[in-house]
Amino acid sequence: MSSSSTKNPAVITCAIVGAELTREQTPYLPLTPEEIAASAVGAWEAGAAIVHLHVRDAEGKPSCSREVFVEVIEKIRSRCDVIIQVSTGAALHDTYEDRFQVLETKPEMASLTTGSVNFGDEIFLNPRPFVATLAKAMQERNIKPEIEVFDAAMLEAGIHLADRGLISRPLHFDFVLGVPGALAATERNLDFLISGLPQDSTWSVAAIGRRQFPIAGLALRKGGWVRVGMEDNIYLEKGVLAKSNAELVTQAVRLAKEAGREIANSAQTREMLGLR
Ligand code: ZN
Repeated sequence: MSSSSTKNPAVITCAIVGAELTREQTPYLPLTPEEIAASAVGAWEAGAAIVHLHVRDAEGKPSCSREVFVEVIEKIRSRCDVIIQVSTGAALHDTYEDRFQVLETKPEMASLTTGSVNFGDEIFLNPRPFVATLAKAMQERNIKPEIEVFDAAMLEAGIHLADRGLISRPLHFDFVLGVPGALAATERNLDFLISGLPQDSTWSVAAIGRRQFPIAGLALRKGGWVRVGMEDNIYLEKGVLAKSNAELVTQAVRLAKEAGREIANSAQTREMLGLR
C-alpha cells in the first residue's frame, strides 16, 4: 500500500436501478422497495460507500413517491451505514415539483444536474432557475449535492452556483459520460473536465454502457472515484448480464486494486465529503 493510495482511497458509488431500465432489458433489475434495499445493502457489502437511489412504483415504473423513498431508505439504514444519495433527476417526464420533493426524505446527498441536455431522443430539462432552487434547498437541508456533469458547461454552472453561495465548497462532481446526445466517454473528455475542476474538489465518473469499466479504470488511475451499477450498465462483460449490483461493484473494486487504490468505506467517505 503506497501512502498516496492511503491518502486518496477510491470511493465507489452504486446506482442501483435508475428510471429507464426495465425487466425486459435485464431480469435481475431490483424493483420493489425490498429488492432495491437488498440490492443497495449487497452493493455496500461488496464495497460501495454511496448508493445513488431511484425508486419504482408497484408496477415497476419510475416514481418520485416520498413514501416509497422513505420506505426504501429506512430498510437500507436498518441494515447498513451506506451513504444515501437520492436522485433529483428522476425520470425525464417528472415535474419539477415531484423532483424537488425527493429532498424531503432526509438523504445525506442528492444529485444536482446543472444544465439541460439531450438524453437519447429526449431532453433532460434543468433550467437554471430550477437548478438554483434545488441547490438552495439542499444547502438549507444540509444535503451535499453531487453535481452531475453530462456536458462540459455543467461543470462551469456548478462552480457558478458556488460563486453565488448556493452550494458550499468544496464541491463534489460526477462526470456522466456516454449518454447518447451528451459528452462521449473518452479519455480526452475526461481529461478536459478534470482540468476545469476547482482544486479542492472531489470527483467521480459514471460511464454509460460498455464504456463503464474501461473509463472507471482510467478514472481510478487518475485519482478519481467511480460510479457503477445497473442504472448505467447492466453487463459484467460482453454478453454477460450482471446478476446483481454487487457483482458490478466487485468488478470496480478489482479495478481499484489494479490501480493501486484502497477502497473507502462509508465512514471515510463521509469524512472526505464533509457529511455530518
Ligand atoms: Zn440516476
